[in-house]
Amino acid sequence: MPGDIEIEVPKKIEEVPIGVKVAKEFDKVSWQPKTELGRKVKNGEITNIDQILDRGLKILEPEIVDCLIPNLESDLIMVGQSKGKFGGGKRSIWRQTQKKTAEGNKPSFSSLVVIGNKNGYVGMGIGKARETMPAREKALKKAKLNIIKIRRGCGSWECGCATPHTIPLKIEARCGSVRIKLIPAPKGANLSAEKEVSKLLTLAGIKDIYSKGSGQTRTKLNFITACFNALKKLSGMKIKQEYYKKAGVTEGSS
Ligand SMILES: [Zn+2]
Repeated sequence: MPGDIEIEVPKKIEEVPIGVKVAKEFDKVSWQPKTELGRKVKNGEITNIDQILDRGLKILEPEIVDCLIPNLESDLIMVGQSKGKFGGGKRSIWRQTQKKTAEGNKPSFSSLVVIGNKNGYVGMGIGKARETMPAREKALKKAKLNIIKIRRGCGSWECGCATPHTIPLKIEARCGSVRIKLIPAPKGANLSAEKEVSKLLTLAGIKDIYSKGSGQTRTKLNFITACFNALKKLSGMKIKQEYYKKAGVTEGSS
């Protein structure tokens, strides 16, 4: 973004515990929907997230996702790094930038949250704010609004088990200079992917995969987005009916 530069983080910024978080139970009763779609979810006209995603409707309220996908978990991506005294390079969940304005330097923080039910639905969101916690809250909210349904199956020729532990086809996508290639892997191969990318794949419910990244993969923001784009692309691909059956393709949690 023009005007934004990465700067050294002088003081210790508030860190939150890293790791997968389980969302607190959603209180449907006190929820006051603000959109038509939200009202339909609250009154039970819509009971499945697929009724929204399959029609390509835009979700404008995160509560819709809380309500329809109850077992959501979230994780934070290490998007930033501090340039500490001793070589630095310690990764952080905050990316700190500052904008030079007439009134002086205005710092801001970016955070990247990934969410998913570990069973076919995954989302990612980037939040930016003057303070750390609001940045994280924004990112979480956006991740919910960006939820997608992914395709799983067994596209590994070494395996051929027709269960949804990996992806049905190899797929490639990019974001900025970063390219990622996702390749179906046999059962037991686990996630052969960069650590931060694995967080997204885990929350999506993919257990085995081979992957290859190229370009500026140190830029986690682009790396994660590239991976998310790949999963999105996979959902839009035409798959022949006979292969669909052979690979045991599953859409979402069904
Ligand atoms: Zn398999």
